[in-house]
Amino acid sequence: PSDEPLLTIEGLTVSYGPVEAVDGIDLTVKRGEIVTLLGANGAGKSSTLNALVGLAPRKANRLVFAGIDLLGLPPETIVRRGMTLVPEGRRVFASLTVEENLILGGAKHAKRGNPAAVKADMLARFPILAERLHQKAGLLSGGEQQMLAIGRALMSSPDLLLLDEPSLGLAPQVVDAIFDLIRDLRDQGLTILLVEQNVAQSLEIADRGYVLANGRIELQGSAAELRASPEIQNAYLGA
Ligand code: ATP
Repeated sequence: PSDEPLLTIEGLTVSYGPVEAVDGIDLTVKRGEIVTLLGANGAGKSSTLNALVGLAPRKANRLVFAGIDLLGLPPETIVRRGMTLVPEGRRVFASLTVEENLILGGAKHAKRGNPAAVKADMLARFPILAERLHQKAGLLSGGEQQMLAIGRALMSSPDLLLLDEPSLGLAPQVVDAIFDLIRDLRDQGLTILLVEQNVAQSLEIADRGYVLANGRIELQGSAAELRASPEIQNAYLGA
């Protein structure tokens, strides 16, 4: 049915040996939404994103994306099916050029359109990357590297983009630009699951959110409900 969420997570658990980072969470993302996943350091946010793409050890009762059971699929297949992670800390290849980083984003994995068209779209969106195509990525500013990391992910033509702390360590103006970009991407049809420490700005652009604490969902609701909740006000918004 068309009201089936794009992503359905039921009973997701992530354990590293004896450390249980994520303890049986349920979460859904509908097509066209920005859903934000909030919580303190160590709450299990990165583990959740990494588990979704098969980069962290995971168990779940259900893990279904676009009608496909993700359990048992390797990361490269998951990317090809339309779910791509922009990891925490950007992880661009400093000694490669901007263009080489983009190519690694997997134009050859693109599910639709041709790689040249995907690249042209992406460079139109990020003029700064177009200008610096042949520079080493390590020479870019932090904000530019984050743009490159997002651009690289877009090269796989994802339906669902997973963003892990895209604003981390960036100057306020650059942070604003990143949040504007995320909103634009959603407005153009991309679905986004956003992990952020910047609770106020995340809840401004998000449709819904979840708060993780010690590997469990502590609170969930529409962005407006979360903004108004006393727990969020006290813990994150400095009320
Ligand atoms: P942060 O914002 O600091 O990244 P987070 O909410 O994303 O926090 P995770 O990084 O998912 O949290 O970490 C959750 C818990 O799992 C923490 O206790 C962390 O120390 C532990 N952990 C994360 N990765 C590993 C790993 N590879 N091996 C062992 N323990 C890990």
